[in-house]
Amino acid sequence: MKKKTQMVHGGHTTDDYTGAVTTPIYQTSTYLQDDIGDLREGYEYSRSGNPTRTALESTIADLEGARFGFAFGSGVAAISAVVMLLDKGDHIVVNSDVYGGTFRVLTKVFKRLGIDADFVDTTHTENIESAIKPETKMLFIETPSNPLLRITDIQASADIARKHNLISVVDNTFMSPYFQNPLALGADIVLHSASKYIGGHSDVIAGLVATDNEELAERIGFIQNSTGGVLGPQDSYLLIRGIKTLGLRMEQVSSNAVAVTEMLSEHPNVEAVYHPSLKDHLNHDVQERQASGHTGVISFVVKDVDAAKAVIRETEYFTLAESLGAVESLISVPALMTHASIPKDVREKEGIADGLIRLSVGIEDTDDLVADLKQALDKLN
Ligand SMILES: *Cc1c(COP(=O)(O)O)cnc(C)c1O
Repeated sequence: MKKKTQMVHGGHTTDDYTGAVTTPIYQTSTYLQDDIGDLREGYEYSRSGNPTRTALESTIADLEGARFGFAFGSGVAAISAVVMLLDKGDHIVVNSDVYGGTFRVLTKVFKRLGIDADFVDTTHTENIESAIKPETKMLFIETPSNPLLRITDIQASADIARKHNLISVVDNTFMSPYFQNPLALGADIVLHSASKYIGGHSDVIAGLVATDNEELAERIGFIQNSTGGVLGPQDSYLLIRGIKTLGLRMEQVSSNAVAVTEMLSEHPNVEAVYHPSLKDHLNHDVQERQASGHTGVISFVVKDVDAAKAVIRETEYFTLAESLGAVESLISVPALMTHASIPKDVREKEGIADGLIRLSVGIEDTDDLVADLKQALDKLN
C-alpha cells in the first residue's frame, strides 16, 4: 500500500459488528462479561483497551511501519510514558533544542525521580557519542526541531544508540508519518504530538507512540495501562478522521512552505530564514535523505521585536496562536510566547532573536499566503 492509500485503509477502522464504514465511537467505560472473565473481544475496561482507541493505535502502527501503537492523552503524556521505560539512576541524551514541554518534564519531574538528562547539539552526531556515559540508556531526538528547524541524522543517531545499547526515540511531530518514518531508519520508538499534523484541525490534544520491538511494546503497554494517560474514544475518533486527509494536507503544507520560504528569502526586510528546504540550511542533505517532503513550520528574522509585532498585526490569514500543524496558518513570536521563559542571553545564544517569527503554514491557497505575508513585510521600515 502506498502512503495515501494507507491513510484511508490502514489500521482496522471499519466495524465488524454493524459494517459501519467509519469507526464507531465506543463511548463506554466497561464491557459485559458473558461469564466471569469471559470477554467478547478481549475488552474489559476502557483504560486497558477501547475499540476506537485500538483502531487508532493500529493505524499509527501501520503508518510508521510498526506492529504496535499506543494512544495517549497528550504528546507530553506519550513522551512521559516512553521515559518511564527507564529506571532510577539511568541517563538520557536529548537534543538541546527539544520541545519545551519535553525539557520541562525531564528537568522538573524525571530528574527528581532520579532520571538525569543531558542536552546536546545533535546536529553533529559526534556530540551524542561524547555525551554517552555508562548509565546512559536512552537517546531522544526531535527532528526538525523548534523553532530553528535543526536537523538531526536519524540513521546515524540510531546507529550510535544501537552500538551503545540505548533505546533510540524520535519525536516525529514536525514531519508526520507521511513524510518521515524513523523506525525504517533504525530508531526503536517513534512518537508524535498528534495535537499537531495528525489531528490537523486545532481541535484535539493527543500523543501517539509506535514501535516494532515486541519487548518495548509490552512494556509501553504496561506503562500505559498502569499510569493511565490514555486517549478517550471521542478524541481517538477525531484523529482517525484527521489521518484520512493527512497525506493531502501534508502535500499542500509542503508546497505552501516552499513558496513562502522562497518569498521570505528574497525579501529585503527579512534578515534570516530557517527552513529545511533551503539548500544552505544545516544538514539539508540529511533531510533530503531521511524525509520525503517539508514541514510547514518556517522561522524568519525581522529587524526587532516591534517589527515582528507589526508583521503579526498586518497579516490577515495567519492566526496569532501557539501550536502548529493545523489546516489554518498560525504565526507566533517565540521570544515573547513559547520561549519567553528562557533568559534573553540564553535565547540569543541559541539563535532565538527577539525579531524571530515562527510560522506554521496551513493548507490555504499558496498565492494568498505568499501575498499576505509579503504585503505585511513591505510595510516595515
Ligand atoms: C506540541 C509538541 C509536543 C507536546 O505535545 P502535546 O500534545 O502538546 O502534549 C511534543 N513535541 C513536539 C515536537 C511538539 O510540537
